[in-house]
Amino acid sequence: MTTRAISACLLFAGLTAGTWSDTPRRNPPLTIGGYRVLAADFHVHSHPLSWSGLGPISTVLEARQQGLDVVALTGHGNVWVGQIGRWFGRTLRAGPIVIPGEEIVPPHGHIIALGIERAISWRLPAAEIVDEIHRQGGVAIAAHPFSSSWPAFAGEAMRKLDGSELVQPVVYMYPAVYRQFREFHARLGRTVIGSSDWHGVGPIGLCRTYVFATGHSAPAVLDALRAGRTVVYDHDGRAYGDPALIQLAARDPRPFTPDPAAPIWISRICGLVGLFGLLIAPYRRSTILERAQ
Ligand SMILES: [Zn+2]
Ligand SMILES: [Zn+2]
Repeated sequence: MTTRAISACLLFAGLTAGTWSDTPRRNPPLTIGGYRVLAADFHVHSHPLSWSGLGPISTVLEARQQGLDVVALTGHGNVWVGQIGRWFGRTLRAGPIVIPGEEIVPPHGHIIALGIERAISWRLPAAEIVDEIHRQGGVAIAAHPFSSSWPAFAGEAMRKLDGSELVQPVVYMYPAVYRQFREFHARLGRTVIGSSDWHGVGPIGLCRTYVFATGHSAPAVLDALRAGRTVVYDHDGRAYGDPALIQLAARDPRPFTPDPAAPIWISRICGLVGLFGLLIAPYRRSTILERAQ
């Protein structure tokens, strides 16, 4: 068997395993302590204008595929992409609640605005951005609060923010960044958020927030965020958030975060090796020429 044939078989096996394992993650309704517990990703980017590979409709479908109950589409400097996602989410059966939002991106101190309807300028000082978010009935979250962004949040903004991101994919790789996010959260002392800052790579909801809401609706989710009723788990399974809710969740035997299926990794390895093999294997042009003669 030639290298090309083996590579083609590996690529085919990878595609087959990937297709077979690409089943939606089941997310049966979860009620704990009288609250509806909703898995949410509050920081997701969607094409266009936000450096992401998928448009809003595909993004909402992918959020459903990953078992999210809530997804916030937070365009860089725009809300309309999230509004399209919300419209589409409402047409879906068993689709996630879609919350339109914006990531407001000044040079330092990015802010996630959840539940707003009009875009807010990044040129405003952070405290005024938060005021405008609240005027529109939204919730203001400090996004990935690296220490370089702390001066932007100093003073008024620190008193007005509703919460901050503590777990993001970046903390999986950089312990020093994780320390910065935890220190910021400890100083802010408000709602804890886990989100994926998704740009089209990897699964949406890799980092997620468990919201303890009084109902299954966007207003109930935003109310829970204002009241701090969230729990977030880091990559070591450590829980952050309301201590009473953490205890309630710990007593419940149902798993919150099912792991991705193993065949996903098998399919990726087979697919990549197969593709690489096809690219580097010599193409036996001479044989074809011989046959043609
Ligand atoms: Zn950002
Ligand atoms: Zn972002």
